Amino acid sequence: MKKLYNAYSKSSIKLSKFLSYYFKGKIHDGYCPICESQVFFIIKEDWLRDFYYCLQCNSIPRQRAIIVALNLFYPEWRKLKIHESSPSGISSDFIQTNCPEYVATHFFQDTPLGDYKHGIRCENLENMTLADSSFDLIITQDVFEHVINPSAAFTEISRVLKPGGAHIFTMPWYPQMKKSLQRARLVNNEIEHLVEPIYHGNPIDKKGSLVTFDWGIDFTDYIYTHSGMSTTIYLIKDKKMGLEADFLEVFVSRKLIDKVLSKTL
Ligand SMILES: [Zn+2]
Repeated sequence: MKKLYNAYSKSSIKLSKFLSYYFKGKIHDGYCPICESQVFFIIKEDWLRDFYYCLQCNSIPRQRAIIVALNLFYPEWRKLKIHESSPSGISSDFIQTNCPEYVATHFFQDTPLGDYKHGIRCENLENMTLADSSFDLIITQDVFEHVINPSAAFTEISRVLKPGGAHIFTMPWYPQMKKSLQRARLVNNEIEHLVEPIYHGNPIDKKGSLVTFDWGIDFTDYIYTHSGMSTTIYLIKDKKMGLEADFLEVFVSRKLIDKVLSKTL
């Protein structure tokens, strides 16, 4: 009970509200992979993907999931060279803090590619100035539903990854859809909406980010076609780590090592 009181006192939630969550069973204890300690989780609304918080770091499920995936599949990730495109939130902060060779980039419309704005390098995922085979891991968190030309982005990611490297990412997807839906495209430098536009929150743009693709079950084939990378879909559900939500999957696209490939062929 003392630990619960401590968690409450560090939160910005009113006591009456906190107690009502508690008595409705919306607060439970567990282990947060970002705090790396025992914490309490709180479910503030039914849409767990955005409202199932760690009371200590405020992380949401997909942020905890990508860290769990890094720990499981790349346990030495702290020593690797990692590029994250369009970082945001506590999971990006956590990787940056723990990985000396972490490079964050954003695409700023008003900054030349490769230059810096507010200390952050400007890169367009579809046309990066980063060298070939220069990173072990590339991370994107909820980015690929907003990329206007994802085929170019996946090709670029494969180019920039070292052989044996991987693109680790989260995004909403709809496995019941056999074919991905392109929602918008660029025609003569103007956005053309193919269906009713939808926007998500964007930390660097008040207007929000246009959703360009609803990804279906065919997206792994799409990645393979445009990059040669093979994608594995991981879903880890574990209430003790606050891992429960829609779109909780972590996708890992691996760039093959040519030598291994030629030996096996
Ligand atoms: Zn936490």
